[in-house]
Parts: sequence; C-alpha cells; structure tokens
Amino acid sequence: MFPNSFCPKCKKPIEWYDNIPVLSYFLLKGKCRNCSTAISFRYPLVEALTGLLFLLLYLNFGVSFALLRGVILTGFLIIIGFIDFDTQYIFEATTIPLVLAGLFLSLLPGGNPWNSLLGVITGAGILYIIGMASIILFKKEGMGGGDVYLAGAIGAFLGWKGAIAMLFVSFMIGALISLVLIGFKVLNRKAMIPFGPYIAASALAVLFLGDKLIYLAMPLLPRN
Ligand SMILES: [Zn+2]
Repeated sequence: MFPNSFCPKCKKPIEWYDNIPVLSYFLLKGKCRNCSTAISFRYPLVEALTGLLFLLLYLNFGVSFALLRGVILTGFLIIIGFIDFDTQYIFEATTIPLVLAGLFLSLLPGGNPWNSLLGVITGAGILYIIGMASIILFKKEGMGGGDVYLAGAIGAFLGWKGAIAMLFVSFMIGALISLVLIGFKVLNRKAMIPFGPYIAASALAVLFLGDKLIYLAMPLLPRN
C-alpha cells in the first residue's frame, strides 16, 4: 500500500481509476496509460483469483467469523504462494503476522484458542522434524525455514487436525507434480521446487473441504 502502486517501468503513480481490479487491465488493454509498457498478466490473474476465492468463501461460510478467518488466511496464502513461486523464498514478514492473526482470530466466537496453538506446534513441528531429518540423513536442506513458519501459521487457522491434513495433501500433490515434471524432463532430480505453493493450495483445500480431507489423511481418527 505504501508507496502507492506505480508503473515499474516509468514509475508514474497509478490513478485509482486505472487501478480497479481486473477491469482496469482490460480497459487499458494491458498497457500503462503513461508509457504504454505491457502490464504483466499476473496482476489481473491474482486479482481474479482473489475475488473468486473470496466469493467461494462467502458461499461456504456466509457472513460469519469463519468467513473473516477464511478471507485473511486466503489473502495471505495467495501472496505467499506467488512470491515463493517466483523467488523460492517465504518471507517472515508474511508468515509471522499470519501466525499472530490466526492465534488472535481464534479468540473470536466459534474459534478454539487451544486448538489454534496446538495447530501452530503441529504444523511447524512436523516440517521442522522433516527438515532436520533431511539434513541428518541426506546432508541437504529439504525444507526451508519459511515452510516451517508457513505450516505453523496455517495450523493457527486450521487447528492440529487441519495442519496434519494440509501437510498430507501438500506432500501428495508435491510428489505427484514433481514426478510428472521429472518424467517429462521439465525438471531434473536435483532441481529445487518451491514447496510454498503446494502448502498454500493444500491449506485452501482443507479450508473448503475440512473433515473430508482430515479423515482421508487420518482414517483411524474417531469420528465425532
Ligand atoms: Zn508506465
């Protein structure tokens, strides 16, 4: 938000009427009004994705504290997932506020502060242990510190069962996509693949599907 949005090429600040999500991109035909440099398609893509997910959250949760929690988690996941995809880095400036937000929001009606705290410990703890095991067994870093913080933050929102389900789904998607990419020789075996986008996508899946994925990840869990 600070400073205002500006064109990365000519640096001219973008007026509000040229900064309307999705719409402005098409009205400007994908070009800066001042210097005509092409605007990345990623802007309308991220804007449309955010709008679509917020709409689905509203349809799923109605006007409620669960909607507030969902909107905040989803907004951060989009930011973190796209930045990790680009830079292979998950910034603490995005994950630590998300941990705090999750813990704070669990104090509102419908929340469960103990489950939220346990979710942070479960999500971050499992990835921390996997990261340590990878260093000891394979002598290489398998999990970045940012992934540990991110999994903890998601646990703060989804609770300990949600954190386990999220990790289960993200390893499944991660393994599947990596195998396909290596199979088609898009990547080689040694390539570093950012894990954040898988974690973000899996967290969204658990947010929407909840118990269905929790019982898939933990079939022996007693059903209540
Ligand atoms: Zn420009």
